[in-house]
Amino acid sequence: MAILVTGGAGYIGSHTCVELLEADYEVVVVDNYYNSVPEVLNRVEKITGKKLKSYDCDIRDKEGLRKVFSENKIDAVIHFAGLKAVGESTKLPLTYYDNNISGSVVLFEIMNEFNCKKIVFSSSATVYGNNPIPYKEDMPTGDVSSPYGRTKHFIEKILEDVYASDNEWSISLLRYFNPIGAHSSGLIGEDPNGIPNNLMPYISRVAIGKLPQLTVFGGDYDTKDGTCIRDYIHVVDLAKAHLCAVAKIMDSTGCEAYNIGNGVGYSVLDIIHAFEKASGKALNYVIGDRRAGDLPAFYADAAKANTELNWHAELGIDKMCEDTWNFQTKNPDGIK
Ligand code: NAD
Ligand code: UDP
Repeated sequence: MAILVTGGAGYIGSHTCVELLEADYEVVVVDNYYNSVPEVLNRVEKITGKKLKSYDCDIRDKEGLRKVFSENKIDAVIHFAGLKAVGESTKLPLTYYDNNISGSVVLFEIMNEFNCKKIVFSSSATVYGNNPIPYKEDMPTGDVSSPYGRTKHFIEKILEDVYASDNEWSISLLRYFNPIGAHSSGLIGEDPNGIPNNLMPYISRVAIGKLPQLTVFGGDYDTKDGTCIRDYIHVVDLAKAHLCAVAKIMDSTGCEAYNIGNGVGYSVLDIIHAFEKASGKALNYVIGDRRAGDLPAFYADAAKANTELNWHAELGIDKMCEDTWNFQTKNPDGIK
């Protein structure tokens, strides 16, 4: 069975390619390398000892995608490709709407043209906005605070409409919580360009001496230690959820959302302390101002994914930190 992985050279995509190859799927990657490098795919092959096929192609390029679908019999798509920096999206909303939404529409059109109607889409817990916690899939969505979050909400709605118009489609909307960690080989991991926006890559760059100090965004929230609470999930557990979702869409039709999180909330200070333990280093940090748009606390109710996808997160916070540190020390200058 052949799976097209858009954005397959990225952080979550590359870990998913590893799991797909190890489960004997054929893998075809489409990536424009806007936020990744082709070397990542060599490393995926090195980890698995298996080959994948890749195309340097933008998902907005209809002809390019047509070529991919003409040259490969694609059974299902896992759609990761997209821009994901929340802050940047407030400054460049049109870039985000064009890349994420227009790109997705082109992809869905080409899928339709080639009668490929099975897709797993990378959505985000951000679609829940201000709902009570833990988040459940049947809560109202869309009250989101950034253009990035709105792209996820709109694409979910577009896919719901696609299914409503044609019940042959089989669609899985995976709402990710906070993926961190890396493959245990240390060959692939999160490698953002420039100064990281997210907590974990920031911490690991401070620990390795590439950045001087971490600022904890807010110490006066109404939480157990004053810092924000999130549901961190090991990227390998997240990657495995995609295989469960592929199995599900292969023998059913519909459009279903699933929370992919641990169901456990950790504070920023919990993560810092777990990282200090894993790395054996004291982290230089300071408590600073709140970051605009941050919610105090959210985590998943993952019961639906547990029962309907038969997926369970297995790796805890210590392993998340160990694997991040292993990747960082093996790749102090990132993946070139
Ligand atoms: P990433 O930036 O590492 O990977 C995305 C990949 O898509 C990159 O390789 C990039 O080059 C590629 N890409 C971007 N636009 C493209 C386009 N127009 N055509 C072809 N390729 C394109 O990001 P990630 O962390 O692996 O996230 C993957 C998906 O999961 C994204 O859609 C993201 O919004 C979503 N998501 C991520 C998180 C997170 O915290 N990492 C949380 C929730 C949802
Ligand atoms: N955070 C922080 N300092 C940083 C980056 C993030 O204190 O340099 C906090 C942020 O306020 C949030 C948590 O870490 O509470 C996770 O942030 P991240 O950007 O990784 O993910 P988000 O939950 O915002 O999607």
